Amino acid sequence: MLILMHMKELKIVKDNNSLLRLKSSDVTLPINKEDEETILSMMKYLKNSQDENYRSTHPNVREGIGLAAPQIGVLKKMLVIHFFREDEEVTRALVNPKIVSKSAKKCYLKSGEGCLSVDNPHEGFVFRDFKIKVEAYDAIKKQNVSITARGLEAIVLQHEIDHLYGILYYDHINKMNPLFAPEDFIQL
Ligand SMILES: [Zn+2]
Repeated sequence: MLILMHMKELKIVKDNNSLLRLKSSDVTLPINKEDEETILSMMKYLKNSQDENYRSTHPNVREGIGLAAPQIGVLKKMLVIHFFREDEEVTRALVNPKIVSKSAKKCYLKSGEGCLSVDNPHEGFVFRDFKIKVEAYDAIKKQNVSITARGLEAIVLQHEIDHLYGILYYDHINKMNPLFAPEDFIQL
């Protein structure tokens, strides 16, 4: 039987691989075909990961809402996020994302964060800026974008941008007091 695959199956780099600790390079714009295909295949992977039927036939695939290029072994500043906020789909494929401003207000996920590259649980809160402004090139919209993100979207973007600098979410957890949070931090 011959199976033709347009895109090879992406393999997620795990946190035992030091590649995840390296800093990614800027992508040259305008984006070339190869980089465009890479980021679109990342989006495809992420959407598939949210499909229960797909996961049932791909047992190594875990559900995610964000993915950064280093996680597929590509050290370039590219990330994708995809999730639903009420009825609205949040879908972004960002190239060279840059946080240009952030709020003083902090937030965190009550359940802690997770990561497709991290199989072992790391209990503890990860404090993030509640509101950020990000500038980037969006490979789906095919234009430069300026995004004001709050709450979950801000958290996911900060998590993925961290990957572009070799930072993992558990680096932020206070080892001495992992489940302490100041009262004025917003719990999501
Ligand atoms: Zn991650």
